[in-house]
Amino acid sequence: MLNIGCHLSVSKGYKAMGEDALSIGANTFQFFTRNPRGSKAKEIDPSDVAELLEILKENKFATILAHAPYTLNACSADAKTRDFANMIMEDDLKRMEFFPNSFYNFHPGSHVKQGTQIGIEYIINMLNSILKPEQTTTVLLETMAGKGTEIGRTFEELKQILDGVTLDSKMGVCLDTCHVYDAGYDIVNNLDGVINEFDRIIGLDKLYAIHLNDSKNPFESHKDRHETIGEGSIGIDAITRIINHPKLRHLPFYLETPNELEGHAEEIKKLRGAYIDD
Ligand code: FE
Ligand code: FE
Ligand code: ZN
Repeated sequence: MLNIGCHLSVSKGYKAMGEDALSIGANTFQFFTRNPRGSKAKEIDPSDVAELLEILKENKFATILAHAPYTLNACSADAKTRDFANMIMEDDLKRMEFFPNSFYNFHPGSHVKQGTQIGIEYIINMLNSILKPEQTTTVLLETMAGKGTEIGRTFEELKQILDGVTLDSKMGVCLDTCHVYDAGYDIVNNLDGVINEFDRIIGLDKLYAIHLNDSKNPFESHKDRHETIGEGSIGIDAITRIINHPKLRHLPFYLETPNELEGHAEEIKKLRGAYIDD
């Protein structure tokens, strides 16, 4: 079975996300740990979470994925900005233990004028200070489009970060199809080549999740603008090959396409229809 869901809003609570997911034919989902722009996090209501966990268990959901606020920058030149990212992510990881064995995805950040190597060092330092041996959450680095000075545009950069983290068993990668295509990995004409390169440089055992998005922009544009499935430069044929690829088809797929619930339900239906069941 295809494990697929989309990004859902946490504004109505946790149980409501489980119900929303069921209502659109999803068996997993992604959510923001807090306001994606700010720092305010709602107090977690344990009974609401318990009801969500019951829904996940009863409906055999695939692993759910939390997304860190995208404004955090763990490799900023400004120490205060780095400290803020550190503090928020440390708090997020504590909160994630309400949802045992889940994923927590973050954008490595932008090094601005300091250079990639200094940026990578900062990210490694942060991870080494916040990861705990007892945590059940796997922290995922997201592949980035390479907008501005974003770190994570290449598999080599992600591998360097992973290599620097002491608790490497707590780490993995989330591959965003829009981002890698914008970054210059040709998943349309050479999917096998890109997967083999990922395996050679990072190792497919580190690939835990896929953000499934089409792209508004052409190959190698370094733009990062998501498009609904089949309406962008990646297209439905390439996306069908991605969800069915023998090395990817078992992974959870999360849509981050510009759609409301109804549109996501249609995308999920279309993708389930395009998935060749075992
Ligand atoms: Fe993201
Ligand atoms: Fe993404
Ligand atoms: Zn994006």
